[in-house]
Amino acid sequence: MIIAIDGPAGSGKSTIADVLAKRFGFIKLDTGAMYRTVAFVCADEGVDLDDADAVIGVANRLSITFDTSTEPARVFADGRDVTVEIRTPETDRIVSKVSAYPGVRQALLSCQRDFADSRDIVAEGRDIGTVVFPHADVKVFLTADPRERARRRVLQRHPDADERDPKIAQEVEQTLVDLERRDALDASRQAAPLKPAQDAVHIDSTASTIDDIVDRISKLAHVRR
Ligand code: C5P
Repeated sequence: MIIAIDGPAGSGKSTIADVLAKRFGFIKLDTGAMYRTVAFVCADEGVDLDDADAVIGVANRLSITFDTSTEPARVFADGRDVTVEIRTPETDRIVSKVSAYPGVRQALLSCQRDFADSRDIVAEGRDIGTVVFPHADVKVFLTADPRERARRRVLQRHPDADERDPKIAQEVEQTLVDLERRDALDASRQAAPLKPAQDAVHIDSTASTIDDIVDRISKLAHVRR
């Protein structure tokens, strides 16, 4: 079975996919982590991000692997652990440029499909239900109010933060700007843009708990089974 979860940055895809994967005993495929890894390695190696051939070259030669036995799963680029590096605000700012190149998407597509070969997965990203697994058993398009998404992102980074702290409030504002910019780039690109599949179930997570959303998606999966 394939459960596909697409949606904009910070909508809760990753958290929901983690809980679902645990509940069903499925493996999670975090496709965003793959694009982030290509972006990080390009930046780390000083590759000019305007040079499409060079960026696509990195995507083609790179071996991206996951260790899903740990929580959170660890991500490796040619065996190097890049789990932390791919989640920095610097990587956030460049990843949409890298993921817009059709050649990069092509390079990662076969890895993503191989990942699902003969196993049950929960895959999350932007084009899972539309391009990667158009025949997925369950398709969800998860959204949330942009300010709430920015708030969650910042609280993920600083779990003990006081939201009244002006520094935190400012970080939420900056994150909101970055996140809306990234969504606009992801939604407006030619190749596999961020958009709901026609047969996706839309879920707004702004005012819902994780458990409520997981229960809703679990019901959809049970029906399909
Ligand atoms: O999901 P996450 O925020 O980690 O994704 C990082 C970036 O990777 C997105 O902003 C998008 O540019 C790209 N991405 C994509 N297609 C996917 C998953 C992620 O283009 N299926």
